Amino acid sequence: MNRTILIIEDEEKIAQWVCTYFEQAKFAVQLARDGQLGLQMAQTQPPDLIVLDLNLPGIDGLEVCRTLRRDARTSVANVPIIMLTARVEEIDRLIGLEVGADDYLTKPFSPRELVARAQAIFRRIDRTAAPAQQVLKDGDLVVEVDAHQAMLAGQPLDLTPSEFAVLVALLEHRGRTLSRSQLIELALGHNYDGMERTVDVYVRGLRRKIEADATNPQRILTVFGVGYRYA
Ligand code: CA
Repeated sequence: MNRTILIIEDEEKIAQWVCTYFEQAKFAVQLARDGQLGLQMAQTQPPDLIVLDLNLPGIDGLEVCRTLRRDARTSVANVPIIMLTARVEEIDRLIGLEVGADDYLTKPFSPRELVARAQAIFRRIDRTAAPAQQVLKDGDLVVEVDAHQAMLAGQPLDLTPSEFAVLVALLEHRGRTLSRSQLIELALGHNYDGMERTVDVYVRGLRRKIEADATNPQRILTVFGVGYRYA
């Protein structure tokens, strides 16, 4: 599906010009002629990117941008915003924390440049939105963290959720000794006060499943008096 660009711009000529270029670049385009309407459209159906003129009748671009950034009810707070401004002295504020625009162009600008800036923002978003699947490996042991799947020598391991979490925590900190309470916190995300020995149960279970000889572990090592370490 084409990405939608919301253009909030009161100057007829510029608005049409910008619309045309975005349409040619295969974006879906919506146009608002003032800040109030722009705000309403953005909040009703958040677009993929907003091109926002600073100098608008009624609610100006600064206020529109601030309001959108503070919007906690919809996903619009994270929509990238490119500001259009003739006021060069405003630029630091525009892209600073105070207003929160992602990029800006000073008028007069080239619409081609504007489209290029938007595409650059989308490339950045696409890169961060699809992080490589986290896979942890130790020889024939392969743990696909997001898929919640562990394989040993190509065979899926039947791990309990807690065993899986403990294994991931150990592998992520390979070579480092983790105390029992650290392991609990890393793996289960909370402090199991006084229940640190439960870690031993998970480790025993894990060893049975991933060690060639559970009585002589080569992967999950006991560090006496401290905790465990993944070799
Ligand atoms: Ca204007």
